[in-house]
Amino acid sequence: MLEIRDTIYAFSKNAKPVAHIKSGDTVKFITEDCFGGQIKSEDKLVGAIDWNNVNPATGPVYIEGAEPGDVVVVDILSIEVKPQGIGCTIPGASIFDGETEIRTKVLEVKDGYVHYNDIKWPANPMIGVIGCAPAGDDVVSGMAGNHGGNMDSKVITRGVKVYLPVRVKGGLLALGDLHASMADGEMIGAGVEIAGEVVATVSLIKDFKLNWPVTETADYFYVNTSAPSYDEAAELGYREIHRLLMNAYGWDFTDTAIYMSLQGDLCANQTVLMSSWGYNIRVGTPKVSSKRRLIG
Ligand code: ZN
Repeated sequence: MLEIRDTIYAFSKNAKPVAHIKSGDTVKFITEDCFGGQIKSEDKLVGAIDWNNVNPATGPVYIEGAEPGDVVVVDILSIEVKPQGIGCTIPGASIFDGETEIRTKVLEVKDGYVHYNDIKWPANPMIGVIGCAPAGDDVVSGMAGNHGGNMDSKVITRGVKVYLPVRVKGGLLALGDLHASMADGEMIGAGVEIAGEVVATVSLIKDFKLNWPVTETADYFYVNTSAPSYDEAAELGYREIHRLLMNAYGWDFTDTAIYMSLQGDLCANQTVLMSSWGYNIRVGTPKVSSKRRLIG
């Protein structure tokens, strides 16, 4: 299996591919944690790290035949994380800024559980950063956008498919920033930040209009959006999933809108208060076996 470990710090149409693959190939992505491995112990605080070296994404991978207007499908077969992750406060990132200390916590991930102080809970390894290159300006890998990027959706786990719009030839797929566990909202600005390995099969859907990344879980399709405010992110998410639903289900605009109010769940991926990071949400709708799939 092809293994890659080179990283980028921005999604860019000018990034040099580290590998060329064909639709249907399986790739192992070896990933650093979001701090680029700069924090290994509790005496290293986030204020002391080089912030130009955060959120590395492994890639980019050039997919032969991928053209703007296509969709890259990333079928996540496995996510393995290291036995040690980092939780921390990040200055300026949360509602408790100024009340919390700047603190690093080294967290053990053992036998499938995250250990925190005197409790533990099941790990839920997920991918924070996954995307293709945007058509326009470079986007740093700490940011999210309609190319994907730092979406921080806790449903991007083993067994799901991520659909990413192709905006440049080859797509230029990269991913990283694993979390052993993260809550919806990521309230303090970090999950259990951790290095690891992702094995994924990458394929193409030719000629499918997709404006924002979509995640397919066992039961749901989710559209991921981001914007400078929650209001805008929510509207973008609702409009995209409404469009996909109308196309797939053959209902008119109003019936689809009423349905969205009954079966369209709005979830906050991040409540991180640094608006420069953007606000990330996802809007989900259950899969219905008697209807056409939204995508794929
Ligand atoms: Zn992260």
